[in-house]
Amino acid sequence: MTERNLLLLPGDGIGPEAMAEVRKIIAYMNAEKAAGFVIEEGLVGGSAYDAHGAAISEDDMAKALAADAVLFGAVGGPKWDDVPYEVRPEAGLLRLRKDLELFANLRPAICYPALANASSLKPELVEGLDILIIRELTGGVYFGEPKTITDLGNGQKRAIDTQVYDTYEIERISAVAFEMARTRGNRVCSMEKRNVMKSGVLWNQVVTATHKEKFSDVKLEHMLADAGGMQLVRAPKQFDVIVTDNLFGDMLSDVAAMLTGSLGMLPSASLGAPDAKTGKRKALYEPVHGSAPDIAGRGTANPIAMIASFAMCLRYSFNMVEEADRLEKAIANVLDKGIRTGDIMAEGATEVGTVEMGDAILAEFKALSA
Ligand code: NAD
Repeated sequence: MTERNLLLLPGDGIGPEAMAEVRKIIAYMNAEKAAGFVIEEGLVGGSAYDAHGAAISEDDMAKALAADAVLFGAVGGPKWDDVPYEVRPEAGLLRLRKDLELFANLRPAICYPALANASSLKPELVEGLDILIIRELTGGVYFGEPKTITDLGNGQKRAIDTQVYDTYEIERISAVAFEMARTRGNRVCSMEKRNVMKSGVLWNQVVTATHKEKFSDVKLEHMLADAGGMQLVRAPKQFDVIVTDNLFGDMLSDVAAMLTGSLGMLPSASLGAPDAKTGKRKALYEPVHGSAPDIAGRGTANPIAMIASFAMCLRYSFNMVEEADRLEKAIANVLDKGIRTGDIMAEGATEVGTVEMGDAILAEFKALSA
């Protein structure tokens, strides 16, 4: 039987509550479908700091490097606001991204028909929306040097951030975008600011060349990132896959996120380069939301973002496409039945807690898998 090695890092706040619902789905898949998941568990964020004095221990980092995929809950909370900067909860996530070399961040924005009314846009603009934003995660202006604030000595200061991209960074992120497009609508829209930024000129050239060389079967379009932002809220369904740099991706993916309603619904994946021998990519899957300290421990958190992150893991790390489709369909069916956690509650729907939502999705998943 194929062994599928998964490391679970539930983290802090609502992370463990949401992860518990995924654990039930894995247990079912192992028991009834011989899925062969081998689960390791570790600590990250504040819980790791409390146990080991670090945001993630060396032992858990080694487990992450050895796993086929990492499922991450959320980190942080007021309890750890004053811990030293190097061991703050977020440092655990940043270490994972760095050591696993996760350069491609995938943020799907899917609007379930039952939630079209929860969007800030008109329902007809977002109903059935299914786009994927691919953001470069390890380069660009967030990491470029020099990065300084200098005192000019005349009562003025000067702040400098540097946007830097090398050819290989643009090649590998655009390759991910084209590969993902082939599994979906076969269309990529690349967004940059070539009209005012040299990095935009290079970005445009390298995406175009990569497309011509290896992916000419995929439809490629270029758009200036500001126009792209406008189009995302004017007619979001025109897009299939959007690929963009770290800074623009940070903003555009948050804009796209809000098209779909609640933070509690949004999954994400971060992927590394394919292994030269096995072709497998290192990968980490996590909900977009944080640890939600305001509702942690109450049993009211929405587990859908976490469960949908596991569906992405099935799809992208284990090529279990049918299972991923079924799990996503199970989520859609439960929402269609009017079952809701508090964050997505609507008039006439039935409000449930984290465990009941997880149970309802599992029951639907079982029915679809029968
Ligand atoms: P948050 O995402 O934790 O919460 C924002 C709001 O959305 C809160 O009102 C919360 O109750 C609600 N919410 C979030 N997820 C929900 C869910 N699944 N179900 C129902 N409601 C949900 O963001 P925040 O409040 O800005 O940050 C809280 C803590 O999380 C901070 O310590 C922050 O640093 C950390 N954080 C961690 C990550 C991460 O682990 N990747 C991401 C963002 C924030």
